[in-house]
Amino acid sequence: MARIVMKFGGTSVADLERIRHVAALVEDEATAGNEVAVVVSAMSGETNRLVGLVDALEADIAPDGEKRTSAIEDEYDSIVASGEQVTSGLLAIALRRRGLKARSWLGWQIPLRTDMAHSKARIAEIESSAIGPSLEGGNVAVVAGFQGVNERGRISTLGRGGSDTSAVALAVALKADRCDIYTDVDGIYTTDPRIVKDARRLNRVAFEEMLELASLGAKVLQTRSVELAMNNNLPIRVLTSMRDVGVPNPGTLVCHEDETMEERVVSGVAYSRDEAQITLLRLKDRPGMVAKVCRAMAEANVIVDMIVQGISKSDSAANLTFTVGKRDLEKALAALEAAQDEIGFEGVKSDGEVTKVSIVGIGMRSHTGVAQTMFEALAEKNINVEVIATSEIKISVLIDAEYTELAVRALHSAFGLATT
Ligand code: ASP
Ligand code: MG
Repeated sequence: MARIVMKFGGTSVADLERIRHVAALVEDEATAGNEVAVVVSAMSGETNRLVGLVDALEADIAPDGEKRTSAIEDEYDSIVASGEQVTSGLLAIALRRRGLKARSWLGWQIPLRTDMAHSKARIAEIESSAIGPSLEGGNVAVVAGFQGVNERGRISTLGRGGSDTSAVALAVALKADRCDIYTDVDGIYTTDPRIVKDARRLNRVAFEEMLELASLGAKVLQTRSVELAMNNNLPIRVLTSMRDVGVPNPGTLVCHEDETMEERVVSGVAYSRDEAQITLLRLKDRPGMVAKVCRAMAEANVIVDMIVQGISKSDSAANLTFTVGKRDLEKALAALEAAQDEIGFEGVKSDGEVTKVSIVGIGMRSHTGVAQTMFEALAEKNINVEVIATSEIKISVLIDAEYTELAVRALHSAFGLATT
């Protein structure tokens, strides 16, 4: 007998037919003698719909010009968390209709306590004194993902995609043997199969690789859930919920690198179209200039990702190029314009039509020639690289968005990812 946390994403609970199917998958684990806690997302599209309702009403102008205050953010969290309340209840009923003992648990009922950060709260503690004995009593616990309760007793949410983090945190708190994340794809792929036909499912991927892949644009797992699993050495299995009970479903195991075994240098190619590039022209080449730019961005709440500086020695001026999220471009440009005199630069150029393409692999630590292979493959296709960023296990390049598919395909084949 094992204790298992099963998590089902939005497409897996998209309608009653899918919820009935999820109930069959849960029944299969429970009748095998396991203690089962299930974490569910809202039906797909539901959270977006709820966010849209809040945004629409918030656009109305208050008599005193009130903008988003913490009172409104409390309501935001309470509204957008409601999608998971619905699916947890529905799945509990579907399980009872199959003859299982089941009940739903909302964040505050567990309780799953969080800090006060609005719409992206962090989990502080998960109480297991009520849910633990319930599992031991043979009940399936159906937990509403994405939500918790904050220090003031208000409903909080864990950021978009947060049900993954709910599931991993619950598995850690309940000392579960396994955390299975069911989704609409059958595992983690070497790259996006919509772009590369012969992209391959990986049997195993290391936590560090998954962390990079998740933050570089592979949307299967919320980055925070991978961090949490890595810190607690809890393996996660990613698998599809679209298969019938009893059909083999190996998925991808996300685990410690010692257990990944597969000998390869590069594990995957990720891409993100979510980028925008900003270049400050003729910045004075003096200590503290980049700090000033970064401060202006931080004050505007804009995250800066890749940075490169090109200096012309002859006249001690530099061009500074950096990237921000595409959604933040307007905000970033406005902040730079406001700080132009303070920072001291002559002009700004920006481009929202760029893509970040990355290769990721723990094997890069011990192999040479990876960068060479990457840049030769891009050069062969005549793709110009705008900005480069590296870490121990990844190399990212910023390119013209038009060449996204071409670059991903070229890199996938240059590293032999279809076959290794
Ligand atoms: N329903 C939430 C969202 O769409 C949380 C999740 O699905 O993980 O972001
Ligand atoms: Mg998700």
